[in-house]
Amino acid sequence: MSDIQNLGTAVITGASAGLGRVFADRLARRGHNLLLIARRDDLLEEAAKKLSSLYGVTVNTWAADLSKPSELQATADKLSADSSISMLVNNAGVSTLAPVGSTRAAEAANMIAVNISALTALTIAVLPGFKARDTGTILNIGSVLGFAGLPISSIYSGTKGYVYLFTRGLQEEVSGTNVRVQLVAPAATATDIWELSGVPLSNLDAATVMTAENCVDAALRGMDLGEAVTMPSSNEVGLLSQFDELRVKLLVAAQRGKPADRYAAA
Ligand code: NAP
Repeated sequence: MSDIQNLGTAVITGASAGLGRVFADRLARRGHNLLLIARRDDLLEEAAKKLSSLYGVTVNTWAADLSKPSELQATADKLSADSSISMLVNNAGVSTLAPVGSTRAAEAANMIAVNISALTALTIAVLPGFKARDTGTILNIGSVLGFAGLPISSIYSGTKGYVYLFTRGLQEEVSGTNVRVQLVAPAATATDIWELSGVPLSNLDAATVMTAENCVDAALRGMDLGEAVTMPSSNEVGLLSQFDELRVKLLVAAQRGKPADRYAAA
């Protein structure tokens, strides 16, 4: 039981379904106490009962709509006051896959609120405690769509592109400390998000879709390996380092203080 207490509490947003539900199972199995967050508290309660009886850990729930500023603030306040928190899995996410011109402004705002604002606010809530205690892990769930804007994913991809750069910058910020920050960028995974996005899973090539269990197990294996960026389904790890090198080269190449030669007045 003392080992269980030493692992501290893992907070998982979007724990009522999909990847979040599997993260909850795997982290409880490892011995973390849990704080499960989502809107559907009946599903959170059901998961809490099951996991606490299976693994003997303490599982609390917190029903909140993270797209609502007041509920997000209350959640952030709760997290920043809890020094038992040792891990935050910023997993809650929403997706509407449609051209920008046929996306309702409210759907765009919802993606930005949950995928960007909530992830940012909850990170800000736990980070000072993690830094002060010089320990703690943040897992941010991005997406391979954070590397590519498709005609039907401009807004969702934009939110996940934010998660990518936010996480990469945060990793620089905490380097030299024992605070760990990991980006997980899954490809297509079999969860409800597809049906909710307007593109049912049946529209995808089944061979390109992984299970939620495989995705989460790979993400946690990536964490154990100390990876900064985990792409659960990709063997091409070399591409990630090339991408990072090019990002830095692009930044450096722009530090000239004057227009590029091709923009010189004729
Ligand atoms: P999912 O099955 O639809 O689950 C989404 C979770 O987010 C649910 O638990 C939902 O709970 C919660 N959530 C949604 N809106 C919320 C809100 N306003 N406030 C609080 N919680 C909210 O989707 P998933 O596939 O597991 O997605 C998990 C993460 O993986 C997301 O960040 C997603 O973008 C990312 N991802 C998924 C895939 C994929 O193919 N599945 C690929 C790449 C990345 P309630 O409805 O109970 O609130």
